[in-house]
Amino acid sequence: MDLSIAAAKALDAADPLAGKADQFSLPDGVIYLDGNSLGALPKGVDQRVANTLANEWGTGLIRSWNSAGWVDLPQSVAAKLETVIGAEPGSVVIADSTSVNLFKLLAAALERAAAMEAGKRRKILTERDNFPTDNYIAEGLIRLTGETHELVRVDTPQAVLPALDEDVAIVMLTHVNYRNGFRHDMAAVTAAAHAVGALVIWDLAHSAGAMQVELAAARVDFAVGCTYKYLNGGPGAPGYLYVAPHHLGHCQQPLSGWFAHADPFAFSPDYQPASDITQFLCGTPPVLSMVALDQALDVWADVDLAALRKKSLDLADYFIGLIDDKCAGHDLTLITPRERHQRGSQVSFTHPDGGYAMMSALIAAGVIGDFRSPDILRFGFAPLYIGFADVWHAVDKFAHILETRQWDAPQFHARKTVT
Ligand SMILES: *Cc1c(COP(=O)(O)O)cnc(C)c1O
Repeated sequence: MDLSIAAAKALDAADPLAGKADQFSLPDGVIYLDGNSLGALPKGVDQRVANTLANEWGTGLIRSWNSAGWVDLPQSVAAKLETVIGAEPGSVVIADSTSVNLFKLLAAALERAAAMEAGKRRKILTERDNFPTDNYIAEGLIRLTGETHELVRVDTPQAVLPALDEDVAIVMLTHVNYRNGFRHDMAAVTAAAHAVGALVIWDLAHSAGAMQVELAAARVDFAVGCTYKYLNGGPGAPGYLYVAPHHLGHCQQPLSGWFAHADPFAFSPDYQPASDITQFLCGTPPVLSMVALDQALDVWADVDLAALRKKSLDLADYFIGLIDDKCAGHDLTLITPRERHQRGSQVSFTHPDGGYAMMSALIAAGVIGDFRSPDILRFGFAPLYIGFADVWHAVDKFAHILETRQWDAPQFHARKTVT
């Protein structure tokens, strides 16, 4: 690997996605390696939201629920996302948060599993290292339903397949791990789960928008994800959920709000669930966030997802190569797999004592990554707006901070609330 800045610039010049960065507003002097936590602002979102405020709300008022299509946003925005995650038309809605959507799907999946097998199975299988909210939500649902199920947490991703048995009702996993960036083989794990009669729920928070996700082809049952990471929907943007068409109408989610009703504006005193994906909505959609996301998803219209995945892996390989070369001897341990097929679009290192302070110093120097407790430095590569020269400059600054021990100053050790 040629680690010179000239080589980095040559890679950028040959990059088929290089022009995409122009569709984002990024501040000068910042190298943004945290698009896996909060995606950058796509150009056009500010105008679109301003138009919704001034014209649709300000002038259209209540009429805009119909005339501006507000009421259809959960489905119309989802249609744009379906192509990015390989989902069948009408199988996705945008709603609520990832946490709430997981609660809804887990309950629906348990009902579906019980109907398929007379409810004998007790286990929900996951990883100890799954994103905490996912496991917290599962525990909350188990408590609510009278401890009829048990959350089984395996210690490593490799331990998932050996733990599959005929007592597993649901396999609930995150496609790409938020800490170390390990990527599961979604199709293989799904097939293995189905082989023992279990259903799967995948969390796509760290994979959608960073690689091809083929929900239909992998025969996935259910999926959730968030839109503020690689999908650039903005801070707190709504989440989404996927239900395979053959499960629709055969299970219900429990947050049976009026938007999940077959005919919400009939204002019937009795609940009648919608038979399509709208049964997975709950209440009124957050219109301002929805229109921002709607606009943000337009950047995907012409993206070749195979090219996106290749660039993401190339960027990370380049980053790892540079760190190996320039930051050796500083006690950094790579915890992300070097094998390309086992990775998402992030690279993580641990450091025995300086992780938080090193990341703070790096952010102060204009390279934004993040820190995950207790000791992880995390760098995300959003292939739509990060290039090889960015990676080169980021490592150059990082190496300088390590060499000079700039990070070991008191102001870099003081912890903020959000890391
Ligand atoms: C980011 C993330 C979430 C976030 O959930 P919210 O409800 O949006 O706060 C959930 N799961 C995983 C795996 C994540 O990475």
